[in-house]
Amino acid sequence: MFSDEQIQQETERLYQKLQHVGFGKALCQMFAPLTLEINKIKKEKNAVILAHSYQTPDILYGIADFQGDSYQLSKNAQETDADVIVFCGVRFMAETAKILNPTKTVLLPSPAAGCSLAESITAEDVRKLKAQYPGVPVVTYVNTSAEVKAECDACCTSANALKIIEAFPNESIIFIPDKFMAQNMQKLTTKKLIAWDGSCIVHEEFKVSKIQQFKQKYPGLKVLAHTECAPEVVEASDFAGGTNDMMRYVEKTEAPSYMLVTECGLNDRMRAEFPEKDFLGMCGLCPYMKQNTLGLILEALKNPKPGQVIEMSEEMRKGAERSLLKMFELSQAVPAVEKNPVHI
Ligand code: SF4
Repeated sequence: MFSDEQIQQETERLYQKLQHVGFGKALCQMFAPLTLEINKIKKEKNAVILAHSYQTPDILYGIADFQGDSYQLSKNAQETDADVIVFCGVRFMAETAKILNPTKTVLLPSPAAGCSLAESITAEDVRKLKAQYPGVPVVTYVNTSAEVKAECDACCTSANALKIIEAFPNESIIFIPDKFMAQNMQKLTTKKLIAWDGSCIVHEEFKVSKIQQFKQKYPGLKVLAHTECAPEVVEASDFAGGTNDMMRYVEKTEAPSYMLVTECGLNDRMRAEFPEKDFLGMCGLCPYMKQNTLGLILEALKNPKPGQVIEMSEEMRKGAERSLLKMFELSQAVPAVEKNPVHI
């Protein structure tokens, strides 16, 4: 279908970026026919591909039109004029794209791409919390299902959580579903946060002792932790925030080496974006994020199966949209809260 010359050119294009994450020419050559075909069908169908930073490098640099964190990608989803959105991330992210684009086709390549945080809480759980704490606003981290978002007052991301919490005049806020993010935010606000017992299976695994070992071994090492990590891990780090915050931190600082206490995909992304910088140490693999593959993306674009197409009732969509739009409104209306991310 593609000529040898086209395959060769595509191999070179992929290799320029992917060599920095350890992909050899042979691997790039293997990916080339797939990325060529996906990019061709993408144009024919007026589709856009959004990829979270935790996706594999072949997806991020082979076919994605936009790469970033949940907030960045939800803005991209809000602004696109494509007819089809392929969301390379997990289900709640693809749902967010659908909530903001009800008339577009939104595809999630792997129906198995869930999230331990999103699965920790249901709409019924939120209704019970609201009955238990009447009048207390509910702020949900975007890592929740559409039905949960529809029950809440506003969404937030790791990048704007504190700003959204502070925007409400109330003294107490129900903050769901991540207990560690709630504990991290509690240190930065005088409001009382009522937390849910959810956690990320990747970020809950990181330990302070490992950070200390690396800091001893590599003088000058800068440690960046995601705010889904436990408070003691955040405290032992030099910086805490969301994935885009970490990218900006690395871009703006000079250090002999960096350690990213988050999902391994961000290490690959940093190595590709900042090949002159040194990244080392620990990271964790999210089994949900790694469900998407080039093969599934091609399948979804060509002939999507029902499980790959995101659908929801209009009532649920409108409720969830209200929570998301409130986040966009508050994150623009409220002056920047510089304490979030945590410290530099
Ligand atoms: S890294 Fe954690 S929060 Fe992100 S999708 Fe995976 S399980 Fe969910």
